[in-house]
Amino acid sequence: MNAVNAQQSTKFEGGCYCGALRYAADGEPLLRAQCHCRECQYLSGGAPHLFVLMPPGSFRYTKGTPKTFSRTDLEQPVIREFCAECGTHITTRRPDLGAIVLKIGTLDDPTLYGGPQMAIYTVDIQPFHHIPEGLPAFERMPPR
Ligand SMILES: [Zn+2]
Ligand SMILES: [Zn+2]
Repeated sequence: MNAVNAQQSTKFEGGCYCGALRYAADGEPLLRAQCHCRECQYLSGGAPHLFVLMPPGSFRYTKGTPKTFSRTDLEQPVIREFCAECGTHITTRRPDLGAIVLKIGTLDDPTLYGGPQMAIYTVDIQPFHHIPEGLPAFERMPPR
């Protein structure tokens, strides 16, 4: 029972490449996924983005304040948070969704990710992207 409890209170800690930003997030991810969308390719260097979706209110910065960016040409742009010093992209927030998209490369221990449960936005997939065999894949978002 203790082991189960410990797992449920998994604490995600991490920060940016230069250390100016640090964060902590409690609780269990709502989703672990990889996103193949074109926007993620810009920000990841070309690969799919790997992320955990953390529940609203579970995430907080413990050091520093991120710079934010939203496109002005979209009706419902996401808010991207990144380090103003080193440029590391930490989170994406969707105004219509309280949950926080946390980039797993910024975790102190990326193995906490455990692997994706699904691949999303395969509509933009590149021939060199890899989807693990048997992983559910969706052209955009999975049906709600
Ligand atoms: Zn930084
Ligand atoms: Zn994406």
